[in-house]
Amino acid sequence: GNDITPAEMMQRADVALYAAKAAGRNCFQLYDASMDQARRDSRSLEVDLRNALIDGVGLYLLYQPIYDAESGAIVGAEALVRWQHPVRGSLSPDQFIPIAEDRGVIAELGLWVLKQACGFAANSDLPWIAVNVSPLQFADPNFSDRVMGVLTQCGLAPARLELEITEGLLLQDSAEVKDTLAKLRSAGITIALDDFGTGYSSISHLRNHEVDKLKIDQSFIRMIGRDQAAATIVRSIIEMAIALDMSVTAEGVEDDLQRERLKKLGCSSLQGYLLSRP
Ligand code: C2E
Ligand code: MG
Ligand code: MG
Repeated sequence: GNDITPAEMMQRADVALYAAKAAGRNCFQLYDASMDQARRDSRSLEVDLRNALIDGVGLYLLYQPIYDAESGAIVGAEALVRWQHPVRGSLSPDQFIPIAEDRGVIAELGLWVLKQACGFAANSDLPWIAVNVSPLQFADPNFSDRVMGVLTQCGLAPARLELEITEGLLLQDSAEVKDTLAKLRSAGITIALDDFGTGYSSISHLRNHEVDKLKIDQSFIRMIGRDQAAATIVRSIIEMAIALDMSVTAEGVEDDLQRERLKKLGCSSLQGYLLSRP
């Protein structure tokens, strides 16, 4: 209506701006009341998340084993965060990681996950534990020191930690990020590139040997046996990884056909519902 205060007008403009950012930026959005609701929702989730991080109540990790493709032995596990929200029920990371990133809670959440996962691994006989890291966590210039601090605190050898990063992080082409990755790797931590194939051009980063391992995105694995082009891409990724002396994990392995094909193609390790749910 025409009867709103200037302050309300500014607030709505802010809400529309927020919606435009959420829509991937580089666009405009007209304010409407449903946006307000979405914003209030994410604001209240932010507050709840901050509270959950204070007492640790409701947040927990699931662990999904990763298997050697040849022997079938468990070679490691990936930590996947969950949130049992008091009102909204069980939330998957896709429902709160983006909010944590947006609202400046991801550094704290990421550190909490790292501590939990490393503590768990230190008291297990798992060869290693993989932890997902948001690109925003790398904005902290002390990130590598923090990680090393957690390892010391938990008594976990660096060789037993794997950090999963995404292609977007490498795409930033930042000297600070490269420096942090180099520090982590020289300390003995493994760096895996998650969801490989869904981002943009990581080939040059592979050529420069900036990561140790590729995780082929489950969208490709799902197409094995259905789509010839996808199968060819999977084969090429595996061959490339082998040639570059990197290991490859296939994500989202759901059936025997996929497992057998991947084994034949020389994929080093497998993860997915067929073998074990998180
Ligand atoms: P991701 O790192 O690629 O993790 C694999 C996702 O695929 C997990 O979903 C897992 O439950 C699911 N999955 C595993 N096997 C199968 C399968 O055979 N079929 C299908 N359809 N799915 C399978 P989840 O746990 O919902 O996590 C989603 C994403 O959220 C993760 O994808 C990761 O990017 C992010 N995430 C999870 N935990 C964390 C965390 O602690 N920190 C950050 N920054 N991100 C996290
Ligand atoms: Mg992952
Ligand atoms: Mg993935």
